[in-house]
Amino acid sequence: MNLDPASTRTGFHWPPFNTVHHLHLHVISPIEKMSGIRKLMFPNPNNYWFVSVSIKIIRLILNMKDKFLLYVFSFCRQTM
Ligand SMILES: [Zn+2]
Repeated sequence: MNLDPASTRTGFHWPPFNTVHHLHLHVISPIEKMSGIRKLMFPNPNNYWFVSVSIKIIRLILNMKDKFLLYVFSFCRQTM
């Protein structure tokens, strides 16, 4: 994928506002083309239902096993 980092948003939906009950990362691009409802679902900055992550965290997730994914997720929550 050839995503422009300036037009890309990444993050997790946060319980109890998640509708899918396994860990999944949203990568949205280009954010300028999001509809109004999508802007509400994937807001910036962070809020109670959507937590963005840095590209460093994403690289960790892509390189680690499932057990570590849960640790990274917990880490993100603690730094909010
Ligand atoms: Zn989600």
